[in-house]
Amino acid sequence: MARADTLARAGELDRPELAYLVPFRTADGMRETELTWAELARDTDWATARLREHGLTAGQRALLTASGFEGFWGHAVIRALKDLRVTYGIAEAMGWDHRRTSVFHRELRPHAVIGLSAETLEGLSGAADIGEMFRPTRVVLARPAAVPMLRAVGVSACLFSAVGPALALECPERGGAHVNAAEWRINDREGELSIAAGEQRTSPLPETPLGIPGRVVAGRCGCGSEDPRVLFAEARQPLSSRS
Ligand SMILES: [Zn+2]
Repeated sequence: MARADTLARAGELDRPELAYLVPFRTADGMRETELTWAELARDTDWATARLREHGLTAGQRALLTASGFEGFWGHAVIRALKDLRVTYGIAEAMGWDHRRTSVFHRELRPHAVIGLSAETLEGLSGAADIGEMFRPTRVVLARPAAVPMLRAVGVSACLFSAVGPALALECPERGGAHVNAAEWRINDREGELSIAAGEQRTSPLPETPLGIPGRVVAGRCGCGSEDPRVLFAEARQPLSSRS
């Protein structure tokens, strides 16, 4: 049978609702939650709107740095870039792959770098000037540990982070990373973040402490969004290193 026929028949098969099992770290160890195709589609729409606010538009180029196990948000961001018709390259976010980030950055000259990690910056800093490299990049969405490293060298980076199974993405106002309030309920208790499935979410998740130091800012942001914002605190020092 011709391949096109096989694919056409496969396309008629029922697709299971479940798209991903999302493992994430909590205050009490690893746990999993489900992610359906419908939820993934809504996460994609939300990510698309956030990236559009950063000025991403058709014909631009982006570099995404993500790890394989981050597929649950990686998939939404990749779909968002496709929907926006932004050409993208992908490098691994772990430190050992920093050379790929370097090559893509040089060759793609991306409008946006998304998901930049402290490990990648540490790898790059051996051979490059981080400030010189990223100051010309219009949009830099970086993980919490990477943001202060970038801002220290004059790169106006915005926060980008997984918060348990949710994605947190800072708008150009830079007042904390927004979390989609339609899908998630995010809270802080005693200086640490917790998350639960929101009203729209069909996959259940009761309130789960994440062990991530930080706080949540409620109320309307300067960008007009009512989605709460997450501010990440510096990781607590282990007891042994306290003086
Ligand atoms: Zn905002």
